[in-house]
Amino acid sequence: MKHARFILASGNRGKLREFREILEPMGVEIVSQAEAGFDIDVAETGETFEENAYLKASAVCAAAGLPAVADDSGLCVKALDWGPGVHSARFGGGKAWTDEQKYMYLLEKLSGVADREAKFVSCICCVFPDGSVLRARGECPGRILEAPVGTGGFGYDPVFCPEGREGSFASLGEDVKNRISHRARALAAFAKELEKIC
Ligand code: IMP
Repeated sequence: MKHARFILASGNRGKLREFREILEPMGVEIVSQAEAGFDIDVAETGETFEENAYLKASAVCAAAGLPAVADDSGLCVKALDWGPGVHSARFGGGKAWTDEQKYMYLLEKLSGVADREAKFVSCICCVFPDGSVLRARGECPGRILEAPVGTGGFGYDPVFCPEGREGSFASLGEDVKNRISHRARALAAFAKELEKIC
């Protein structure tokens, strides 16, 4: 792949770190919105991860005139009709709440629930100034723990145990998470698409 450079349409530092760790070894440079001199907070009005990823990437691409990439992601829990899904960042008290308040609220909602099946979903969308679009999706199946474990990662990581593992995304370490996560899978698929055009 030729050297590729994208603005990440996100202010989420956890996502920025993971994008860089996963894509930079593939020769893809990721520039944060702040580094590019933008501070765009796009309203996530879509009903799907795909729609929201497109809204974010296209807004930043239009403002910067440079290729922009976005991830819209979330946690889908079977016992909550596969929610909070696209509403994961706004679960419970929304932006005013810390990650810890949100995952403790989730544990409270699942108190006494035996079926704890869940999955993380990540949809990546990349928009180029000529209007062309690349998309990729990744999922990571697992279950919601009874109590938080570990201090790494971000968001709901302390309460999510990926299938076939013990512990949580927050306790398994970045290396493991970045090999098996929803975002790692979506970014691997994205890199394959990118290779076809770069
Ligand atoms: P959005 O994509 O900006 O709408 O936010 C997605 C939300 O889903 C984040 O704020 C996190 O709460 C959650 N989320 C997405 N990916 C992860 C992850 O890898 N670990 C933990 N939580 C995540």
